[in-house]
Amino acid sequence: MLKLNSHPSGRHFLQIPGPTNVPDRILRAMDYPTIDHRGPEFQQLGKKILGQIGKIFQTEQPVVIYPASGTGAWEAALVNTLSPGDTVLMYETGHFATLWKKMADKLSLKSEFLGDDWRRGVDAAKIEARLRADSGHVIKAVAVVHNETSTGVTSDIAAVRRAIDAAGHPALLLVDTISSLGSLDYRHDEWGVDVTVAGSQKGLMLPPGLSFNAVSQKAIAASKTAKLARAFWAWDEIIEANKNGFWPYTPATNLLYGLSEACDMLLEEGMQNVFARHQRHAEATRQCVRAWGLEILCQNEAEYSGALTAVVMPVGAGGERCNADALRKVILANFNMSLGQGLNKLSGWVFRIGHLGDFNDLTLMGTLAGVEMGLVLAGVPHKAGGVAAAMQSLQQSAVAVAAQPA
Ligand SMILES: *Cc1c(COP(=O)(O)O)cnc(C)c1O
Repeated sequence: MLKLNSHPSGRHFLQIPGPTNVPDRILRAMDYPTIDHRGPEFQQLGKKILGQIGKIFQTEQPVVIYPASGTGAWEAALVNTLSPGDTVLMYETGHFATLWKKMADKLSLKSEFLGDDWRRGVDAAKIEARLRADSGHVIKAVAVVHNETSTGVTSDIAAVRRAIDAAGHPALLLVDTISSLGSLDYRHDEWGVDVTVAGSQKGLMLPPGLSFNAVSQKAIAASKTAKLARAFWAWDEIIEANKNGFWPYTPATNLLYGLSEACDMLLEEGMQNVFARHQRHAEATRQCVRAWGLEILCQNEAEYSGALTAVVMPVGAGGERCNADALRKVILANFNMSLGQGLNKLSGWVFRIGHLGDFNDLTLMGTLAGVEMGLVLAGVPHKAGGVAAAMQSLQQSAVAVAAQPA
């Protein structure tokens, strides 16, 4: 049987919420011979990156870069600051918060979960109440996910900081920004975060393989007495070698070429513009979903994610909920576009539209058109006109630019 699109031409639409589309500028920047990682040329690169990377985290503090996926940086945040048996207060916002908690348990920490609502973000009042009750200061760290990639819900990290301070509690604040850094406003210093965990393959527009810990002086002080075993993840040797632009082992040189370019791209656009661009695309996406008559998973408007939107599948004609993975399959086969699957207990129930990273108005329109055509082909009940609603939203928010004199 002749299969349409069996040899898809054009670019694949990688609209999962990470890894994201890697822009040509970054691909070209990485396409160079690997150099001596102890030589002067590398030192220049190392110093340039280490001079820029703090601007992305909005910090003046050290940023440790690992050749690892985000999961590695999760581990680094825990093992550098904590000791066996320490209690970590975590918050169940979704699949990624759950995975981080499991890791804490495997590392012989005592993790404690607050909350259980996968449609809302962190309730800082619950954290404050729990910390107030911990008068003996048994809790050594509070660990939360900024942008829960499994649900499309962004939590208010400044509010978590205020809650810790209001309770007068000395716990460290550890924050996962793997799917928000470089897309959503995030302020390591201003929000008093002790360890920020990030990864390369989402807002930073790089391939997978680099991850980060931005660390506060309080976190560095904690690392001096923390007793969890660590070697590869230990901050001290890396921070020391970084002072000269080097790493204590062979770094991921070509990914660092890419990171250098990614920093240039984000800083040329301006971080505030990057954040505004993401919010604008997220708003247009939600207008589209609402026009389809479908439900957005996130139930608190103040916590809508600017990086991705999780869409709940409707109930079909037969009374059964339509399956998100069947829809994703149709869209991949027909339009060469990947969408995020529902993770963990959301499996089959939601699909996720990534609108983060190297992304513009027409990427969004292509993405939403692919979903709308997929809904028709897969027989998922919905109203027509989602794409038109998104176009209108983009046109309205573009007027300010168009109306300005040349
Ligand atoms: C992607 C992601 C992770 C996992 O990162 P890996 O690079 O796959 O190890 C963890 N937390 C969040 C919020 C993520 O989006």
